[in-house]
Amino acid sequence: MTLAAKALKDAGWVRNYYAYGGIGEGVLADIAVIGGGIVGASCALFLQRDGHKVTLIDPAEPGTKTSYGNACSISASAVLPTATPGIIKQVPAMLMDPAGPLNIRWRYLPRLAPFLLTLLRNTAPDRVEAHSVAIAALIRGVLPAYATLLKEVGAESLVQHVGALKVYKSDASFAGSQYERDMMTRRGFSFDILNADEVRQLEPGLAPIFKHALYAPDSATVKNPGRLVGLFADTLVANGGAILAEEALGFDIVDNRVTGVRTTSGVIAVDKIVLAAGPWSRGLAARLGAKLRLEAERGYHVMLPMPDTPIRRFINLVDDKFVLVPHEDGLRLTSGIEYAKLDAPPDYRRIRNMVKLAADSVPNLDQTEQSIWSGNRPSLPDSVPVIDRSPRYANAFLAFGHSHLGLTMGPVTGRIIADLVAGRDPKLDLSPYRAAGR
Ligand SMILES: Cc1cc2nc3c(=O)[nH]c(=O)nc-3n(C[C@H](O)[C@H](O)[C@H](O)COP(=O)(O)OP(=O)(O)OC[C@H]3O[C@@H](n4cnc5c(N)ncnc54)[C@H](O)[C@@H]3O)c2cc1C
Repeated sequence: MTLAAKALKDAGWVRNYYAYGGIGEGVLADIAVIGGGIVGASCALFLQRDGHKVTLIDPAEPGTKTSYGNACSISASAVLPTATPGIIKQVPAMLMDPAGPLNIRWRYLPRLAPFLLTLLRNTAPDRVEAHSVAIAALIRGVLPAYATLLKEVGAESLVQHVGALKVYKSDASFAGSQYERDMMTRRGFSFDILNADEVRQLEPGLAPIFKHALYAPDSATVKNPGRLVGLFADTLVANGGAILAEEALGFDIVDNRVTGVRTTSGVIAVDKIVLAAGPWSRGLAARLGAKLRLEAERGYHVMLPMPDTPIRRFINLVDDKFVLVPHEDGLRLTSGIEYAKLDAPPDYRRIRNMVKLAADSVPNLDQTEQSIWSGNRPSLPDSVPVIDRSPRYANAFLAFGHSHLGLTMGPVTGRIIADLVAGRDPKLDLSPYRAAGR
């Protein structure tokens, strides 16, 4: 159990200021960060490094939602948005396949339609290019921001700098990666193309069925993302910050400034706020003047025993559309893009089918399910997160919508938010991450 979790438990999960920071009812928090996933926890730590008294507000234990169950990859050369020119052609076949990775809960379609239509518009080549440029600009800051926070919390050993692989069974499927390779080259990111022997040497735990691979040497694997965020929260508390285990419901506004966060049990007075509630940010963002097409893009994982010949790094099995990654508790298999209501019950059938499929790629795979999970990527139709000041209130900041790359971009987002709060030059053009006009 993390320090932060223990404090919550000791406090009885009622009205819980975990008392380390000495904050109490009605007392001013210099800055309140709403949401304790990788994004909010990173914002909180960077703000604390600047000397702010920070209170993290989250009804759940930090790092136990989307940031817990992802595919553990710090994708340090990711450049592709979800909407790419060819994607629409693939969608009907994927939707028809009951074992496939894409699913839409049809009852949800009316609410989803504006998001899907914008996604469709974003497949235009000039838009893909612009969104890729915006993603790449953030990605360039990912590793330095991670290095700062890992040192701060003493968790360097939780990240393995082993690169990442995309593997392809056929010449035709490898040829399909040309668009991505061209994009990486245009953005200035390096990669290696591996043949079947080289794939075998790098990942002897895979069956010898992969003819080609794309190797991204700068990427890294987090051994346990949930534990990492827990360590961020522990460090915040150990350094005098506070965590409030409550749900933010709204804001008090006086003279065009946010003066308080209304929670399930009262109001906490604040000087500034950062909204980083991941897929739950939409309603609160609207109250801060930012109306966005933020949708929950659900994904799943299953934990399996690690095979005798272990999988060593994040591997995207492109033909079968799932990912394998080593986690400190075993082998994690992730897959799935499912559009559904945020609180719709999970449907584990597809991810369980993927486990059967994985047996073809990993010899002697023990398919015993250790645990199963679903979580919601906070997705915007352009795959570009919002990192901005509220369009309406100058003392409110927005940090959400990191879609498939939140684990990767959490720390760099925290660094930029701290720069914005301090009035420092963030050293990149922030216009693509604005909330207005999206
Ligand atoms: C299957 C899958 C695989 C993925 N793989 C990767 C990967 O390999 N690499 C990568 O970079 N990204 C990956 N992602 C994406 C990544 O996990 C997310 O983008 C990221 O975790 C989002 O972090 P977050 O902090 O914004 O949200 P979260 O981690 O969901 O945190 C949001 C927090 O806000 C809290 N909250 C909600 N409402 C309120 C409220 N009203 N008041 C206060 N708090 C509130 C929640 O309790 C939660 O703790 C993956 C996602 C999935 C689903």
